[in-house]
Formats: sequence, structure tokens, C-alpha cells
Amino acid sequence: METDVDGIVERLNEADGQGLATAGAVLTIDLGAVRENYRRLKARLGGTRCAGVVKADGYGLGAAVIARALQKEGCDSFFVANASEGIDLRAALGTGPAIHVLNGLPPGAEGEAAAAGLIPVANSTDQLAAWRATARRLGRKLPVAVQVDSGMSRLGMPPVEVEAVAADAEAFTGLDLVLVMSHLACADEPDHAANRAQLAAFERLRRLLPAAPASLANSSGIFLGPEWHFDLARPGAALYGINPTPDADNPMHPVVRLEAKVIQARTIGAGVGIGYGHTAIADGPLRVATISLGYADGWRRRAAAFAHFKDVRLPFIGRVSMDSIILDVSDLPEGSLKAGDMVEMIGPSQTLDEVARYSGTIAYEVLTSLGHRFHRRYLGA
Ligand SMILES: *Cc1c(COP(=O)(O)O)cnc(C)c1O
Repeated sequence: METDVDGIVERLNEADGQGLATAGAVLTIDLGAVRENYRRLKARLGGTRCAGVVKADGYGLGAAVIARALQKEGCDSFFVANASEGIDLRAALGTGPAIHVLNGLPPGAEGEAAAAGLIPVANSTDQLAAWRATARRLGRKLPVAVQVDSGMSRLGMPPVEVEAVAADAEAFTGLDLVLVMSHLACADEPDHAANRAQLAAFERLRRLLPAAPASLANSSGIFLGPEWHFDLARPGAALYGINPTPDADNPMHPVVRLEAKVIQARTIGAGVGIGYGHTAIADGPLRVATISLGYADGWRRRAAAFAHFKDVRLPFIGRVSMDSIILDVSDLPEGSLKAGDMVEMIGPSQTLDEVARYSGTIAYEVLTSLGHRFHRRYLGA
């Protein structure tokens, strides 16, 4: 157990009124598993360095705590999406680790980003020019990463801009180009033709720029093979236990467990309507239990999933409410489930990827949607 981290988090939970006794649900985050996943990715990467992507508050699990756990594995390079996230992460980690801002800087954010020692990813010649002007104004050299668009059309300099930068002898005046990167659109589909096309485009575009370390692979990109690894990999999802190889068994260790408390359990009579809209009607006497987790906790209203108690599968019945879900508990021995018992929502009986499937979405969205009124428990760093 990592007492410093656990202590901090326990205190935060209690201060928020989200102590174990009073919270409706408990989210357990296994930092030991995050570290194990980092080691598994490192092993696959050989000599390639491995960063940690901790945008969106570490995919909802706590950017600062996750980053500190990764630092213990030697990770000294992090990626966030927005400058505001970078500033928070810098405050948590102190000086030292590299913090890259994937979206680059919105106009006007350059001063604060420079003060926090962030590395913006310049996605356009405009972003690059604004950062160059900031370096001139501050009278010191600033680090910069450049993203080239190798074929996703989301972020990064299109080939014509890369060529313009290549032709401009002053493009990097006052700047230190520390990384050239791009992002894969279809890395989770290993046979997709876009993977090799993007690889070729990235090879060509990066050669137009001054020599710098290169980065292309996200989690799934790491599993495409060594050609996609370059100097630095940028996994997020796989660190958090999401399967980076959706067509095969999950090579990662699960990180999250979500349990919800039973509020009440009872038997309802035949013909009685269940939940909002009476979308279900009991066709005979039916044993039900209501748990304190709902769509306000990020559990999709339309998700037709299950809860589990001692490995027994308990189907949802009726609609998911804001703060509660009704379960059909007929398959449990009578009286075995009581108020205060915890049922598993995400864990060994029902994986994160399965919950995503039941919810009609991807595990990334399930994780980043998880709400803010759980009691959070961090295990084993
Ligand atoms: C989110 C993101 C990553 C991490 O992707 P995962 O699929 O979560 O590993 C890497 N690079 C960029 C540019 C991203 O936006």
C-alpha cells in the first residue's frame, strides 16, 4: 500500500463527504495495475521510451496520482489535452517531468504555459508563430513539439504547412524542437490500410523538419509492431486496463473496480410496474433490489448491463434512474442480499470493455464519464 497517496486520497474523500460509510458507490483504482501495465508496454517497446497520457484527469482516474505512480516506473514524459490540465499537472508534479499539451495553446494562453514550463504541441503554423513570439518576448529558448497530420485530419500541420515550415529558415528561431509527432486514426484495426499509409506519410513529413525525436504510437499503435514505435510511445488507454487489441484477449491488467451499495431489497407483487415509465411489469412475485448508482454517476441510462453479487448475474430491470438502478435478484437465495451490501458493476465479473459494449460505446467513454460522488480508493502503488 502506498500510504502517502492513500492518505491524501482518503482525506480528500472525507473532506468531500465521500467517505466509505456515506458514499453510494465505491471506485477502486489499482495503481499497482497501472504500473504493471506500464511495465508490460515498456517490455513490448524495447528501447523506445514510453510516456504516459493523462488527459481528461487521467481518463477519469486522477491525473496527478496516476502520473506519480508512473514516475515510480521511470516515466518522465506526460501528455495532457489542454493547457489548463498541464498547469494543474505541473503544480502536482513540480519541475522535472516533460508535460506536453496535445491541443497546443489557444491564443492568449502562451504566457501561462511558458511560466508552467509546458511543451505545447504546435498543430499549425499559427500556433508555432505565437510560441516563437512568446520566446522572443520572454528572451529565452522555449521547447516545442510539432504535430504533423499524417492522415487523420483532426490535428496537426497538413503537408503544405509542414513544407512551408521546412522552407522557413526562421521557423524555429528561439525554439527547441523536442518532438515531432502524429496520431493514428485506425490503430485498433491492425489490418486497416490507413496504418501503413500514415506510417509512410509520417516518415516523409518528419524528414522535412529539423532532426528531432519522433512519436506516432498510442496504445494500440504499440501493438502494430516496432515500425510504429519510433523514439517515444504515447499510451493512455492501455495503462488504464482498456484492451488495446479489441480483436484479441486483453493483454493489460484491469485497473478499475466499481461497486454500488444496495439501498433496499424486497419482493414486489405480480402485475406491479417497475421504475420510470413502467417499462417493466412483474409477471409474478419478483425479488428486486435497488442500488445507489445511476446516470448521474456516468452510468449510461440506456446501458442494458448487469450487476454481480458473489458471481451471480443480476439483470437491470426497468429504467436506469439518476441516482439508482433496480435489479432483478431472483437468482440469489432469498435474504442473501441486504441493504449496505455491495454489488459489482465493473470488475472481474463484468469487465470495463463489456460495460462499454452493453452501453453502446467504447471503454474510453465509460471511464471518462465516471462521476464524482464515488468513494475513491487507490490501491498498491
Ligand atoms: C489520447 C491520445 C493518445 C493516447 O491514446 P490511447 O488510445 O488512449 O492510448 C495519444 N496521442 C494522442 C494525440 C491522443 O490524442
